Amino acid sequence: MRIGFVGLGNMGGPMCRNLVKGVNQEVMVHDLNPAAVAARTAEGAKAAGSLAALAGGSEVIFISLPTPRHVEAVAAEIAAHARPGTVLFDLSTNAPAVVKRLHEELAAKGITFLDAPVTGGVARAEDASIVLMVGGEEAVFDRHRAILASFSGTQVHVGPVGSASVAKLVNNMLVLCNMVVAAEGMMVGRAAGIDLSKLVAIIQNGSGDSVGFRGIVARGMQGGFKPNFALDLAYKDLGLAVELAAEHGVPGLMAPQALALMRMARGMGYGGLDSTSVLKVYETLMGQEVRL
Ligand code: NAD
Repeated sequence: MRIGFVGLGNMGGPMCRNLVKGVNQEVMVHDLNPAAVAARTAEGAKAAGSLAALAGGSEVIFISLPTPRHVEAVAAEIAAHARPGTVLFDLSTNAPAVVKRLHEELAAKGITFLDAPVTGGVARAEDASIVLMVGGEEAVFDRHRAILASFSGTQVHVGPVGSASVAKLVNNMLVLCNMVVAAEGMMVGRAAGIDLSKLVAIIQNGSGDSVGFRGIVARGMQGGFKPNFALDLAYKDLGLAVELAAEHGVPGLMAPQALALMRMARGMGYGGLDSTSVLKVYETLMGQEVRL
């Protein structure tokens, strides 16, 4: 099967590396960033040269792109050049309404679109244990199970197209709200003057632990906010989750608060840093650093 991969960033890069290794065949790749393409071709992938060439020469295409806007632009180009029968898996975190629309538009061209977001972060993309959720035709999911398993540890067929994006947005609503409250909690500990390393050890072994909390410690307090899951992308995800809640009439109480804090962090210029840079908002307001 001829496979193409578009978007070789923090997540797409390692997923593509594992795909190449797992299927043991050449995979055509494309990214706007030549360094990202070079890193993959050094590992056995083949540079497509253009998105049109990749679309025309692949039977299965994976895309891992920052925002719905990027996905729409790339999907339009794929629609213009792919052959009928092509299957497109969108690994990005996207809006359910957008993926449903893309599914319809591409179906008119004989292209099958499935939303296939992932959860677990960069570390689990690297060790191929990432959790993949898929929305769309189940028979198509089943047919591609082996390819999906080459770069992910768990594959869940959630339901019709859009359902996987709902699951992903709910998941990220939890992790991002946990992360923001973890930042606030660490600042409380710092301001109250207790030993932060002891506070962290207690929480990591106690009931306050969470993936969001661990991110604040590892990528924020210890990691210098180096972008792993960029604040701009986290803000996009939580914004989509808040919109989804509004669309279904769910009272928005918690997530909009976290979103407002993330908006402040972006306003302070941290959008390109890691999402844990929400901690820097508290640090700036309090005039104290929270570091281990
Ligand atoms: P990233 O910004 O590191 O990578 C995106 C890549 O897409 C970049 O290499 C960029 O050059 C490329 N790109 C952008 N527009 C393009 C185009 N038109 N054609 C070709 N390439 C293009 O982002 P990421 O962290 O890898 O995230 C990718 C997706 O996965 C996002 O939707 C994000 O929300 C989701 N996600 C991220 C994480 C995480 O921890 N980083 C975890 C789960 C899901």
